[in-house]
Amino acid sequence: MTNAEAQPMQDMDVDVAVIGAGTAGMAAYRAAARRTSKVVLIEAGAYGTTCARVGCMPSKLLIAAADAAHHAREAEPFGVRAKVEIDGRAVMDRVRRERDRFVGFVLDAVEAFPEEHLLRGRARLVEPGELAVGPVRVKAKAIVVATGGAPWVPPEFEAIRDRLVVNDDVFGWEDLPSSVVVFGAGIIGLELGQALHRLGVRVHVFGRNDSVGPLRDPVVRETARAIFGAELPVEFSADVRLIAPDPQSSGVMVDFIDREGTPRTEKFAVALVATGRRPNLAGLGLEVVGLGPDVAVDRTTMQWGESHVFFAGDVTDDVPLLHEAADEGAIAGESAAECALVGAPRPGSRRSGLAIAFSDPAMAIVGGGWEAASKGRFIAGQVDFGAQGRSRIILQNRGVARLYADPVTRRFLGAELVGPRAEHLAHLLAWAHQAAMTVDQMLAMPFYHPVVEEGIRTALRDVVARLDGKRVEPDAS
Ligand SMILES: Cc1cc2nc3c(=O)[nH]c(=O)nc-3n(C[C@H](O)[C@H](O)[C@H](O)COP(=O)(O)OP(=O)(O)OC[C@H]3O[C@@H](n4cnc5c(N)ncnc54)[C@H](O)[C@@H]3O)c2cc1C
Repeated sequence: MTNAEAQPMQDMDVDVAVIGAGTAGMAAYRAAARRTSKVVLIEAGAYGTTCARVGCMPSKLLIAAADAAHHAREAEPFGVRAKVEIDGRAVMDRVRRERDRFVGFVLDAVEAFPEEHLLRGRARLVEPGELAVGPVRVKAKAIVVATGGAPWVPPEFEAIRDRLVVNDDVFGWEDLPSSVVVFGAGIIGLELGQALHRLGVRVHVFGRNDSVGPLRDPVVRETARAIFGAELPVEFSADVRLIAPDPQSSGVMVDFIDREGTPRTEKFAVALVATGRRPNLAGLGLEVVGLGPDVAVDRTTMQWGESHVFFAGDVTDDVPLLHEAADEGAIAGESAAECALVGAPRPGSRRSGLAIAFSDPAMAIVGGGWEAASKGRFIAGQVDFGAQGRSRIILQNRGVARLYADPVTRRFLGAELVGPRAEHLAHLLAWAHQAAMTVDQMLAMPFYHPVVEEGIRTALRDVVARLDGKRVEPDAS
């Protein structure tokens, strides 16, 4: 029997119990285990994490195949001609094979944990400091809840409930379907919708409102809507009248009013519902702790109120991203161990905000983005990548970056962008943000030529010109 299958059946008495062996839970377990050997990691489902099994990694694998097809198709203006043929089985085979490889690394990590620290089953609080996991009772001085989230399907999909798929299902496909309707124009909907479109699948994306991926800045949103709307059939603020099973097939039919105001009915082989994810809180028995759902989780200790319960990862419904789940897990594990051993949690430090959607062009938010900057007075400067030198050379000259600065301290407050190499630009900007740099300090940094980063210099110069002219944006709060 391997560690991952071992199952202690006797009751346990531990300092720290971690519920959920995803990214956050594994980080919490490792942090707690550095402080105490009396720790248990409880997992109800399959080991391997959401990120590796059905999240970050397989979605980026699908996007990589789509990018390959897209670049071959788009080579013509360079004088390079390629005939593109998509082998759906080969695409999905690589996605699954590489996904399994990534999952394998996680399984190896779990395998290396001492088997007496692993417990399989669904954990539920039965009283403060005591969990039931099947027949096993676990007394714990502190508990870390790292149960992740799950796709959320709103009630309007009831009629097609037995026909729809969620993102988790996509990566199990053996072949690409002929057509897919994607509900949701958030990060997951746009990433998967655009990738499938580029892989030759007939796709139509329906968003509920005017939001695009993670973006909040109205200027960047508008640009992104125009870019994605020009490439693929996507209705933002979609007017969908009917979603129903197609009586002639195993697929679905959608009645909607298109962008031109024309009523249309389209049929699709597959309906992918990507309308968001919700924290896995049901059935955890958190009510026994005696705290209401309004009690906040402290972002520096991950402690829930004054209780001995800590939260980490997507279950917090705060920033559902991999690196945040890992950081929160480490903080929660350390804090929980401190709480168990010395009676008080230990605050950890958080990083500057960074969110990236791997669409093409990519979208990114740095710091708190527009939402945080616009809570107070701010100056926004921007670059339009349409005329940016290197972006034009590589024919990826679409998009905009908006950078925000404090009008008094000149400190860089954050940014939102859609454009070429946005995943890398966003990292530069996030590092500057975390270093608490002013826009003048950022402009004093080296910029090579010709690079897409020169676009950031243009935006910084625009911010500085506005700062010096004191043309302050209206307070949007
Ligand atoms: C399609 C997709 C693409 C994504 N792409 C990116 C990306 O590019 N970059 C990025 O940063 N993030 C991305 N994410 C988000 C990222 O995957 C998550 O933020 C991260 O995986 C959350 O980790 P977690 O530990 O909170 O949850 P999980 O990894 O889901 O772990 C939770 C675990 O808890 C277990 N569990 C639940 N309830 C119980 C219980 N009662 N008892 C015992 N065990 C329980 C579950 O079985 C699960 O194993 C993506 C997500 C999706 C869905």
